[in-house]
Amino acid sequence: MTFDRRIFNFAAGPATLPEAVLKQAADEMLNWRGLGTSVMEISHRSKEFMSVYEETIQDLRSLMNIPNNYEILLLQGGGLGQNAAIPMNLMSLAKGGPKADYIVTGIWSEKSYKEAQKYGIVNLAASSAAEKFNTIPPRSSWQLSSDAAYVLYCANETIGGVEFPDIPNVGSVPLVADIASNILSKEMDITKCAVWFAGAQKNIGPSGVTIVIVRKDLIGHSMGITPTIWDWSIQAGTQSMINTPPTFAIYMAGLGFKWLLKQGGVKVIEKQNQEKADLLYNFLDQSSFYENRVTKEYRSRMNATFFLKDESLNVKFLEESSALGLVALRGHKAVGGMRASIYNAMPLEGVKALIEFMRDFERRA
Ligand SMILES: *Cc1c(COP(=O)(O)O)cnc(C)c1O
Repeated sequence: MTFDRRIFNFAAGPATLPEAVLKQAADEMLNWRGLGTSVMEISHRSKEFMSVYEETIQDLRSLMNIPNNYEILLLQGGGLGQNAAIPMNLMSLAKGGPKADYIVTGIWSEKSYKEAQKYGIVNLAASSAAEKFNTIPPRSSWQLSSDAAYVLYCANETIGGVEFPDIPNVGSVPLVADIASNILSKEMDITKCAVWFAGAQKNIGPSGVTIVIVRKDLIGHSMGITPTIWDWSIQAGTQSMINTPPTFAIYMAGLGFKWLLKQGGVKVIEKQNQEKADLLYNFLDQSSFYENRVTKEYRSRMNATFFLKDESLNVKFLEESSALGLVALRGHKAVGGMRASIYNAMPLEGVKALIEFMRDFERRA
């Protein structure tokens, strides 16, 4: 399938980016800021690149309202890298030996839970595996340990389409949030978690840069085995430049932040995201042809999973939607069915076009 226009891309990540951001990057590709070169061909330590880096950090701080007692690190290795870095940087804080609590609500938090076991004792404090990850275990059922260094949860499970509506309260134990797929999609009170982490490729820019927001008093407790590039203390002391950072990915993320600021910031995009998700879920709910299987209050505003009740029509559904330029709707193989990822950069028109197609497909089936 080839197109001579931009499509509506519902991919879960890497995902669709704002057209204005892509255009600006294209315009600046050969001659950035009159330097006669692209931004990706200059030294990361040049004053020109450092100004991009500092503006990017500043814009993120302002968009997410990140207080000064939190460090912002721009690292490599993705969310998966942080699954290892988090225990290595934090577990030693536990008084009785390395230990942490994990809340498992889907494939991503399950991966985090498994990775952490290499570094200490990991307590599975709650899991919705028995409910096929279609829900979130009630807070009252969580079995938190008294001596854990931290509690980790995934705020939005990208594969199952399950999202925490609120930040859970775990008392005084540092809470670590995987926000890979819902960062900047709604207002979040930064002070309610000790660590937030996300790769850029879902709601910000291209892949290659990982954002870690960490409360400063938790930095400096890494295990001796921690790789230099993932030691938060070392990276905090070198503006995340202990080695060459992903300069182009940082520049693109910076353009993404400027775009979001221009839209009016997180509060404005949050409203749009809610509108898009409501439109899609309301459509699914009135249909007897499609269904969403996630507990209503935990449905993700970013990744809407759904099934055709007659799954023999799946191939036809995917072929016809793709032909219309509504692409990447196939669900993750672990879940099956369909998934529409509707991040910040997906316009309302994209969701409307999807619904229109789905309505028409149902009528013709
Ligand atoms: C995509 C994703 C990850 C993994 O991110 P990588 O950057 O590919 O390592 C982790 N958690 C969630 C919730 C994700 O959606």
